[in-house]
Amino acid sequence: MRLKDSVALITGAAQGIGRAIAISMAKEGAHIGIADTNIEKSEVVAGEIRGLGVKALPIQLDVSKSGEIASAFEKLTKEFGRIDILVNNAGITKDALILRMKEEDWDAVININLKGVFLCSKEAIKIMAKQQYGKIINIASVVAFIGNPGQANYSASKAGIVGLTKTIAREYASRGIRANAVAPGFIQTAMTDILPEKVKDEMKGNIPLNQFGLPEDVANAAVFLASKEADYITGQVIHVNGGMYM
Ligand code: NAP
Repeated sequence: MRLKDSVALITGAAQGIGRAIAISMAKEGAHIGIADTNIEKSEVVAGEIRGLGVKALPIQLDVSKSGEIASAFEKLTKEFGRIDILVNNAGITKDALILRMKEEDWDAVININLKGVFLCSKEAIKIMAKQQYGKIINIASVVAFIGNPGQANYSASKAGIVGLTKTIAREYASRGIRANAVAPGFIQTAMTDILPEKVKDEMKGNIPLNQFGLPEDVANAAVFLASKEADYITGQVIHVNGGMYM
């Protein structure tokens, strides 16, 4: 039980990687806030988590809406009294080559993937700084490091997360707050299921381990960063990508 009685808020936890992180942290004894736009699916994940013997609180939240953030954190702290771990996982894609990319699709991806991390981290830092302890774990992507045709908005948002993570780490280390990122490669979720088989085959060819990752592979790295074993690690990126980028 590496996270016994810790309190974690995970954004975008109603499915995919966020759900896997929520369940893995619950298995390690953490109580979980599931913050997602999709409240029905969040309720289902909350039920699964309660079945593991810890508490779960579904919270409806769009991370890009600053007006919703404070009340989401209030709900969490009213229920659990503190927040030890924030996982900024919510993210979307709206792919197109740059010349065809609509300005609104650029804005939507940057607002959810990058501004959302800033807004949620800011709220968490207020609480964590008083506690003199906290872990912020941001889900970036391999494309932050290698780029990807068709993902200018997405790769820029994920590269932004890396810079933001390092800045949080430097600004708040003295308050006991650690900030790190996990950069997944190609992970099997709804986000990647929509890609054409041809694209998937090409991608697999670029992965030395010759297989796609599972949400649990990312969750394992997040649990490690959240645990006391990682207390001397801050400002770092853990790559979970089967060797796709090294
Ligand atoms: P996913 O299956 O699409 O799940 C994302 C979840 O986030 C969904 O439940 C979604 O809810 C929610 N969400 C979307 N916009 C939100 C918002 N504004 N506020 C709160 N929640 C929101 O995606 P995934 O593959 O698990 O990806 C999770 C994270 O890992 C993302 O940041 C993604 O960029 C990153 N990542 C994924 C891969 C991969 O290969 N899958 C690789 C690298 C990085 P709705 O269903 O209602 O939209």
